[in-house]
Amino acid sequence: MAASLVFRLHNRGPELVREVLLERGWEEYDEKEQEEEDWNLYWRGSAFCKSEYHNLLPWQRLNHHPKTAGITRKDCLARNLRRMKATFGSALYDFSPIAFILPNDYTRFLDEYNKLRLTRGPSVYWICKPVDLSRGRGIFIFEDIKDLVYDCSVIVQRYISSPLLISGYKFDLRIYVCVKSFHPLTVYIHQEGLVRFATEKYSLSSLKNLYAHLTNTSINKFGPFYKTQKERVGQGCKWTLSKFRHFLHSQDINQLLLWQRINNIVTLTLLTIAPSVPSCPNCVELFGFDILIDVKFKPWLLEVNYSPALTLDCQADVTVKKSLISDLIDLMNYTSTDRLRERAYQKHGHKQPCLHADQPSHVPIPVLPKAKQSKFQKKTRSIQSSQTQALPLIKTLHWSEKINRRRTRHHEFVSDHKRHLPPVHLDKMHAARGRTTNTTAAKNQTGQTLNLTFGPHSRTNVSVVNRQTCPALASWLRDNRRLHMSEVTNHDSAETEAETKLSGDTDVAASILESPQRGLGFRQPAASWKLPSIYSGSHRPVIIPLEGTTAVNGQHVPPLRVGDFIRTFPFNTATLEASQHKLDVKIIIQELHKLTAQLADWRSEEEEEDVEGEEDFDSLLWGQKDPPLLRQYFKP
Ligand code: ADP
Repeated sequence: MAASLVFRLHNRGPELVREVLLERGWEEYDEKEQEEEDWNLYWRGSAFCKSEYHNLLPWQRLNHHPKTAGITRKDCLARNLRRMKATFGSALYDFSPIAFILPNDYTRFLDEYNKLRLTRGPSVYWICKPVDLSRGRGIFIFEDIKDLVYDCSVIVQRYISSPLLISGYKFDLRIYVCVKSFHPLTVYIHQEGLVRFATEKYSLSSLKNLYAHLTNTSINKFGPFYKTQKERVGQGCKWTLSKFRHFLHSQDINQLLLWQRINNIVTLTLLTIAPSVPSCPNCVELFGFDILIDVKFKPWLLEVNYSPALTLDCQADVTVKKSLISDLIDLMNYTSTDRLRERAYQKHGHKQPCLHADQPSHVPIPVLPKAKQSKFQKKTRSIQSSQTQALPLIKTLHWSEKINRRRTRHHEFVSDHKRHLPPVHLDKMHAARGRTTNTTAAKNQTGQTLNLTFGPHSRTNVSVVNRQTCPALASWLRDNRRLHMSEVTNHDSAETEAETKLSGDTDVAASILESPQRGLGFRQPAASWKLPSIYSGSHRPVIIPLEGTTAVNGQHVPPLRVGDFIRTFPFNTATLEASQHKLDVKIIIQELHKLTAQLADWRSEEEEEDVEGEEDFDSLLWGQKDPPLLRQYFKP
């Protein structure tokens, strides 16, 4: 008799998660039928409260780590990246456009604005985004400070005004990142992602045309050209990352360093919060990193999304998001049934968790009395829960004891000794699934008719104008005003200089960003940049054995890949060790630097010899269609 796995969705969504889990044989939690702790995965679009972390049982997982707003709120991310620049050098953290949080940073913004105006003239652009909105709401672009009008907390960020374009259309990348654990830091990036296009041609002469400047699907699907066949881009506004790779390949572009730089951005961004995120072994988190590539092929971090959208608007969404969620569930490493939960119930003589229907029909299914709480008990419980808020996030009670206490309605209390929840017994990981164009880099002055215009640049007025010019979008904006958690980041030179002075530690930082510059760009002459052998057709995808996770120096090494999730951190023995106990950010940065330099110098014999050394830790090179092992890659 086996207990099936049970999922619980907050507010009945997202539908995609339900669909994937039901297809995998999971059951949906029903509060009328099941005990309060009778679930394995609780999925929420918004944050969990502290008590939900406190009360986790060993078989239960949550889809958010605590305290990740440090990268998922636009203002927090800007602040955290600024802090990291000051500590580790501005060159290292130069992957996000410089940002100011207004009104607080107004004077600093003014200084920067005036300085750039003097040195570069008027052709410097800024983008203003409300800190607590997402999906493009309330955003506007301006050149002249007199157009900066805001009525809430905003970030004003340097606008990347020379984005890489495909047939004149702006686009950005949605990269899906799963943080399996913050302690030790364990990061996977999905091979598949989305390319999100603007639906009108890019032009700096029409800053008010959101359909040309913003790549949010939630904006562009209301655009007049959404359904039109657009040159190279096609219908709609999305590609899969595979299609984008194909496109880059057709252009003879060196993708390798582009992906590695995106990989670096992900790691460096996560390092800003990793030391301060409380340990919660039963949580995973799926982040959506938004990356814009500029005309020099430099990737920029625009924001990190908490709960990236899982709606299915088009075929690209279906292709990408369904397997993304399926791989995420694989990464959570559940077995097909929950024996742990079942055993705990049996051991303590409680009601069985929900049972698989596949048991023989002659076996009677025990029907046990439900022990639901009365309203009064629930109320008492919630008061007790809120009283535990000051406690450390991971409560110390042994889980079996927890069940007993819950059952006897003494549950909410925490013992004084502190220890983590016992590790969940897990079976071995599943085997990894053995699973084009002229680009225009210049500004395009097309003079398209503006279909959506911002009036005076304030959020209030924006909504008024939207209602008049685009009723469909206006009603969407009205219906979708909600608090969110999302984020942005930035780069700049004035801030950079000041911070460089503050920081005595910029060497590593400078070189990690300099080396990958080499070889980037379109159609490099063959003599100056030979594409790595993986493009020659001789490369074979690496087959990763599913069985058996390895150990290095007695430390557990997480699997190289799970489905299309590729482990990007830790990527060698040094980073494994640097993330085991107290996170050693400096060592990690040094190792990132070394790896990036090796990739940039991949032809150098000395480097190859170095890499072929004694490293006993396998890593895949994220970003390639069939990612090679780093070791394999560096071999001549
Ligand atoms: P939201 O959370 O509202 O989606 P984003 O920061 O992701 O806010 O910005 C929305 C869109 O605006 C992005 O997808 C991108 O197309 C564009 N954008 C944002 N910041 C910049 C920037 N600094 N430079 C160029 N384009 C930007």
